[in-house]
Amino acid sequence: MPQDSLVTFAQTLIRQRSLSGDEGAVVELIISEMRRLGFDQVWKDVNGSAIGVIKGAQLGPTLLLDGHCDTVDVAPGVSWMHDPLGGEIEGGVIYGRGAADMKGALAAMVHAVASIDRSQLKGCAAVSASVMEESLEGASLRTVMDALEPDFVVIGEATNLNLNRGGRGRAEIHLETIGRPAHSSSPDLGRNAVHDMIRVVEVVERQPVKKDPLLGQTVFALTDIISDPYPACSMVPSRCRVTYDRRLVAGETSDEILGAIAASPELRGIELHAKIPSSDYHTYTGATLGGVKFLPAWVLPESDSFVQACLHGLRTAGLDPKIGAYRFCTNAAYSAGVAGVPTVGFGPGREEDAHIVDERLELKSLTAARQGYRGIIDAVLSAK
Ligand SMILES: [Zn+2]
Repeated sequence: MPQDSLVTFAQTLIRQRSLSGDEGAVVELIISEMRRLGFDQVWKDVNGSAIGVIKGAQLGPTLLLDGHCDTVDVAPGVSWMHDPLGGEIEGGVIYGRGAADMKGALAAMVHAVASIDRSQLKGCAAVSASVMEESLEGASLRTVMDALEPDFVVIGEATNLNLNRGGRGRAEIHLETIGRPAHSSSPDLGRNAVHDMIRVVEVVERQPVKKDPLLGQTVFALTDIISDPYPACSMVPSRCRVTYDRRLVAGETSDEILGAIAASPELRGIELHAKIPSSDYHTYTGATLGGVKFLPAWVLPESDSFVQACLHGLRTAGLDPKIGAYRFCTNAAYSAGVAGVPTVGFGPGREEDAHIVDERLELKSLTAARQGYRGIIDAVLSAK
């Protein structure tokens, strides 16, 4: 039996390295597959994301399926059993960087949209292969959504073929203490910014955890710390900065999080600056993607008609999805969290298979995802 063309396409994508900011070659592969499969419109936007659209016979809403086409790198010095760029298949599993996060899902989306029966559909089905998600979630999807103005969005990050109706958000938090420099032979003449920071860290670590029945709980994880000057020779450091990665639940704002730390009475007398940084990233096309590193959490009620339509579509496709939420942050932080467009997550593979050594995806999960996307499209854009 010849190999399923979806599996071949997933292998082709895995074999093309596509780190964030260097997705040009993989985008060309996706564009040529969309053209080969007869999409009505195919183009590349200013950031270099690929977009393909198929139009139903009748006017109606636009449903966007989004998958990012960048991957994280392979950690140096760690050996894989399977070539990370090999797309090898063994025992019904495809291996390689991006298999689960998320070239498999992207391939399934392209093939699902290409398979629709235009005569049965009201509206448009679109796929975006968005860039730079691993650097800054949501930034390139914003440009895609500005062009397509979708009514509904499906994010293809791994859900193990379940349906996610929410996801935790993420914020990067910079805390900086300012002391006074002195010679370390007479530290009393200065103010040691690291000592001040130790007190700040104690306050942050004691911040109450918020719990959400769907999203789980908030997390504060210290990810780096540096004093200034560094290295310091015979100097009492006058500045110290820590970075925290904060995982958010629905409804949290940056003012509230920063305010809770700064208002602590234990930090009186310490010069503390707290902020959420912003940063700029350059896409392979030379465009600049930037933004504040605060990506809100999102939740859609289970009773929402889009959630129910997706559930119906997945069941019609023969799947038995459970309803859940992402623990990690995805492009939905923009589509749902910022733009407020009804969004769900559905994808092959497991969340815990992202970014690992010997990243893998079961072929039966890949082909079931194609059926699932097709089921969602038929349910949401049905002309009946
Ligand atoms: Zn991903």
